[in-house]
Amino acid sequence: MPETGQLMLETITRKTMLYKPSLPGMDYAMNPVLGCSHGCRYPCYAWLMARRFGKVKSFSEWTRPILVENTLELLEKELKKWHGRIQNVHLCLTTDPFMYRQPEIGRLSLASIRRINQSGIPCAVLTKGVLPAELAELDERNRYGISLISLSEEFRGHWEPGTAPYAERIAALRALHEQGCRTWVHIEPYPTPNIFAQNIDELLEAVAFASEIDFGRWNYNPVVNQFPDAAGFYQAMRARVADFCREHGIRF
Ligand code: SF4
Repeated sequence: MPETGQLMLETITRKTMLYKPSLPGMDYAMNPVLGCSHGCRYPCYAWLMARRFGKVKSFSEWTRPILVENTLELLEKELKKWHGRIQNVHLCLTTDPFMYRQPEIGRLSLASIRRINQSGIPCAVLTKGVLPAELAELDERNRYGISLISLSEEFRGHWEPGTAPYAERIAALRALHEQGCRTWVHIEPYPTPNIFAQNIDELLEAVAFASEIDFGRWNYNPVVNQFPDAAGFYQAMRARVADFCREHGIRF
């Protein structure tokens, strides 16, 4: 009996893969999957947009990922067509490239990164799954990141139920770091204490080995604004992360 996630995923084809998002500091991005089995409930912005634009009808449909089967063919074409114009490719903005226990997705993402690197273009990879060890063999300019907003498995079970356990996520990042890779921790969306009370220092200590850390607030959920002085809270947390990074020689 195969484990969940080793079953064949549904597939679709698309007309394009690489695109230029309108986010500051980001060059190109790609999303080789529609949907995400991580099923984050903050809520997930990508799910809100997929529902709004009629790409999926329900949250349960969103959590059944669909592979873009012509991803590598599209990359082949677009990398040639835009040769010299692409500086960096981010995986992913509307799905997760290393979705937990989804080996078909991991294989496709790894093959995509390899192909992009072959064209001399580095990638930035961000996941709430487990970064595979094979990434250490690829372009040394690649950046490998995990999203991490808590160390509590109780929190994860409620807000990010399909993601990798925190210890596994951190261990995979640390292993890549020890292999000399550039690693990064994306602390967003960080919860206000009325969502979940925790000590940010414990989280920072757990990833003190990373090359870079960034920090962002919880969005798209009115419960944040029920916390008195949410703005002041985020200002203090941001300052704490900045201080920690300075003390530990981590890029913020
Ligand atoms: S991992 Fe990212 S894309 Fe997937 S459900 Fe969570 S927030 Fe959305």
